[in-house]
Amino acid sequence: MNITDIPVEGYERVARCIDEASGLHALIAVHDTTLGPALGGMRLWNYASEEEALTDVTRLARGMTYKSAVADTGLGGGKCVIIGDPDKVKSPELFRAMGRFIDNFGGTYITAEDMNIGIADLLHVKETTEHVAGLDREHGGSGNPSPYTAYGCVVGIETAAAYRYGSKDLSQKHILLQGVGAVGGEMARLLKERGARITICDIKDDRVAQLCAEHGYESVDEASHLSLDCDIYAPCARGAGVNDETIPQLKCDIIAGCANNILLEPRHGDVLREKGILYAPDYVVNAAGIINVSVERHPGGYNEEVAMEKINRIDDNLTEVFKLADDEGIATNRAANRLAEIRIEAAKQLQ
Ligand code: NAD
Repeated sequence: MNITDIPVEGYERVARCIDEASGLHALIAVHDTTLGPALGGMRLWNYASEEEALTDVTRLARGMTYKSAVADTGLGGGKCVIIGDPDKVKSPELFRAMGRFIDNFGGTYITAEDMNIGIADLLHVKETTEHVAGLDREHGGSGNPSPYTAYGCVVGIETAAAYRYGSKDLSQKHILLQGVGAVGGEMARLLKERGARITICDIKDDRVAQLCAEHGYESVDEASHLSLDCDIYAPCARGAGVNDETIPQLKCDIIAGCANNILLEPRHGDVLREKGILYAPDYVVNAAGIINVSVERHPGGYNEEVAMEKINRIDDNLTEVFKLADDEGIATNRAANRLAEIRIEAAKQLQ
């Protein structure tokens, strides 16, 4: 196994691992550990080049620093990627080698699930390093994060409603959800429970038909959903959906959803602000998954009551972001980053 450090400005440590015996080619990026060890998932992807993988792992690691800082998880930001075809490279030996690579970081990086990585893979990683989080309850972890993420997003939607309309009450609100998978589907259910009128859209027609029949939702075509007149738009599918092309079509007061990287570029937050649409920054709203995992590190281990109490604090964090944005006259996505930087800087001063 050959581990080489790659100097990247602004990152505490980035390293490459090549292990010929198992075929492992992977990168780990630790962005910042001021607030605690860097936690971020393991992604397996068929990158066209190591350069592309490096861009992805560093961008994602930095994103985890900001997300954890605003969510106050007591964690820093990191990520790892394995380069390879998800249908071909997986083997117990590959994941054991990955565990040894993670162990080389001495606990400054803790891994978890991400794209193309499941619990079974992480259990092999755990054979060679203890720095693994997010396992199922059976194996001492906090389990599937999706229901927690959904609940946290609903807390965020209520906070945004309170900021925009002066009340958390969603019973007179029309909410459009794009993507009703593991998180969006549960969000729709929780929002309906709060009395909201729900319209859903998804590229899976059978899923839409089933949910509408079961819960009495309305539906709209993916192609025309953006121009639907609604109060709150919740993007819960893929990222980059809010951009120059889509913003002029939007007819909502608030955007708040679970998808990562909702804005194509940071400047789209400025455009939403000018247009008078309140944007609840994605990583503040969808932080319940990482908050839930962070509770595994508490003395005595994972405790759901503690996790729920911390998830409810998304309300305070988001309100602080909205206030900072208004005070400084900046877009909410920029205010979220600012809040993260303020918290990291304050911790550095204390240290
Ligand atoms: P999922 O795969 O279970 O659901 C995604 C749904 O979106 C699917 O039903 C899919 O058919 C649909 N979809 C895809 N493209 C679409 C499109 N163009 N229009 C309409 N529907 C479309 O995924 P998930 O776990 O629910 O995650 C959803 C989003 O939330 C992702 O961006 C993910 O990164 C983010 N997120 C998830 C979690 C979590 O705990 N699962 C945590 C943080 C962020």
